Amino acid sequence: MKVKFWGVSGSIASPCTSQMIRSKAETLLLDASNEDIKDEDSIQKFLDSRPFHQVGTYKGSTSCVQVIPDSGDTLIFDCGTGGRALGLALMGTPLGRGQGTAHVFFTHLHWDHISGFPFFTPAYIPGNKINIYGVSESLIESFPKQMAYPFFPVLFDQLGADVSFRELEEKEVVNIGELVIENERLYHPQVSHAYSVVEGDKKVVYMTDSEFNFANMELIQKAIEFCKDADVFIFDCQFTFADTISKMDWGHSSVFTGIDIATAAGVKKLVLFHHEPSYDDNKIDKIIEEGLIYKGKVGNESLEIVGGYEGLELEC
Ligand SMILES: [Zn+2]
Ligand SMILES: [Zn+2]
Repeated sequence: MKVKFWGVSGSIASPCTSQMIRSKAETLLLDASNEDIKDEDSIQKFLDSRPFHQVGTYKGSTSCVQVIPDSGDTLIFDCGTGGRALGLALMGTPLGRGQGTAHVFFTHLHWDHISGFPFFTPAYIPGNKINIYGVSESLIESFPKQMAYPFFPVLFDQLGADVSFRELEEKEVVNIGELVIENERLYHPQVSHAYSVVEGDKKVVYMTDSEFNFANMELIQKAIEFCKDADVFIFDCQFTFADTISKMDWGHSSVFTGIDIATAAGVKKLVLFHHEPSYDDNKIDKIIEEGLIYKGKVGNESLEIVGGYEGLELEC
């Protein structure tokens, strides 16, 4: 099973600005020696040796994660603005010929998690089946609403694919072939739900838009049980520790909470996700560095910590 990231920005799309790109270029040029740039190989080696914030970006589109099971099923978790690029990539599969099925699970219906759906090209192709899942009473009415006049030029009813909805109960298990998908309620304005995907002995947990505080230990305990032995744990690490205090009840967490849950649950890999749009790449790399120090303090050196970015692909 693999996981691929198509959108990782929290709350609103937040691309790198020209000034940010220029600043990265300036830093690299100032630091490079003649030896570093003498040929193609040495340039690649130099770039590989630099911190991620100088040569890449955590910024861009909002939440959209693809889980690629060995079964070949198409599983998508949230369809924020990253859903546009994912839809285009899927045009090279049976979904591009009107012969495919996509299963799209929604954590909740905030804009940053649904606004890529009207740009998801496979939904326009007759013959495709798009199965939408979510634990929300507003699921069925919300998708036509975001495409209603005058918000979008195409109405939901004009989509070519057969789009169906399945309103899930809390804790309801979904089976797709051999895949088992479960959900868990999270604390977030208007509520959000985490999902886990299990295929054989591999497990991925997608837990975003979730706030935890130590006044509610029951919630933390449930999250730990839900993440038990996950190979990949994608977690809302939107805030620094200071921002989790000043933005209490905004519904987001920090890398420290992610490490605490991952450690108690025996998770192998923690992916920082739903990055705060006002933070630059340097700041997000600093949050990861603080996480690396913290995991040592809690005695969990084996935990792998990865900053989510568009295009990142992980093997379970
Ligand atoms: Zn969000
Ligand atoms: Zn939200």
